[in-house]
Amino acid sequence: MPLKAELHCHIEGAAAPELVIRQAQKYGKDTSPYIQNGSFIWHDFSSFLAAYDFSSDLFRTEEDYARLADHYLTSLARDGAIYSEVFTSPDHATKAGLSPKAYTDALGEGMLRAKAKTGIEGRMIVTGVRHAGVESIEQAARFAARCGHPLVTGFGVAGDERIGDMEDYVRAFEIAREAGLGITVHAGELTGWQTVKAALDHIRPSRIGHGVRAIENPDLVRRIADEGVVLECCPGSNIALKVFDSFADHPFPALKAAGCKVTLNSDDPPYFWTSLKREYDIAAEHFAMNEKALANVTRTAIEAAFVDRKTKTALLARLNGAAR
Ligand SMILES: [Zn+2]
Repeated sequence: MPLKAELHCHIEGAAAPELVIRQAQKYGKDTSPYIQNGSFIWHDFSSFLAAYDFSSDLFRTEEDYARLADHYLTSLARDGAIYSEVFTSPDHATKAGLSPKAYTDALGEGMLRAKAKTGIEGRMIVTGVRHAGVESIEQAARFAARCGHPLVTGFGVAGDERIGDMEDYVRAFEIAREAGLGITVHAGELTGWQTVKAALDHIRPSRIGHGVRAIENPDLVRRIADEGVVLECCPGSNIALKVFDSFADHPFPALKAAGCKVTLNSDDPPYFWTSLKREYDIAAEHFAMNEKALANVTRTAIEAAFVDRKTKTALLARLNGAAR
């Protein structure tokens, strides 16, 4: 089993059905409209959001969030992951009545519990969401810059790509950059190559969330390769949301062949009936990636990780030791 690393996963979207069922029992809620036979059920974007919101609402206290991070990272480690970055969302915390700080501390506590059991390293990327508006995104950036939590190492923007323009988020990203945080932004998933270009022009991120629709513009693909921007690819998510018709149509192999740095990620795994392990299996089956190629994907992810040099060196040593 190849060692794995993940850069793109939304923590609220990572709650496994079994954990959601346990939380629903705690809060006296009925999961049957959203979970059947151990899987989330949804059939279009609004029923997907309904299931997502139902589950997110079951994480309310600090202990709930600690349990969520612990559960997810522990399951990742069982599947061979040595590193995990998750997107956190202070908006969710506020909705649940927790301060962004209490929420972040709780997730950090869960990550440390998972690390104590399995050795997996975890970091957090604070995210603003586009449909919450520019002010909310800047607030998230200010929180990320000031919180001082040792596991908060990045800032990102996610949410509905069809709302707002990249220029709107320049100030938020400057706040994060000045604080020394790593920068990633979702682009080129539900919208075309233009949002990826706008991200490069205005935000200058080292990584792009998805970015796969850059494939629509060969000049842009060349630019991504030349500038060494890392793409956080999530094939299972893309197929579930019908960004591409099938894995055979997915541009992962073409982007890789063009010299782009590509990584494998699960996005909101149980909602897309996937896991990080399944993404690696998909790459093996559909993108003709052997063990060595998959180990190189993990290496790309660790090299692009928003993590201190010492930890990065240790992770790379672990990967190289396993490859020998
Ligand atoms: Zn995402």
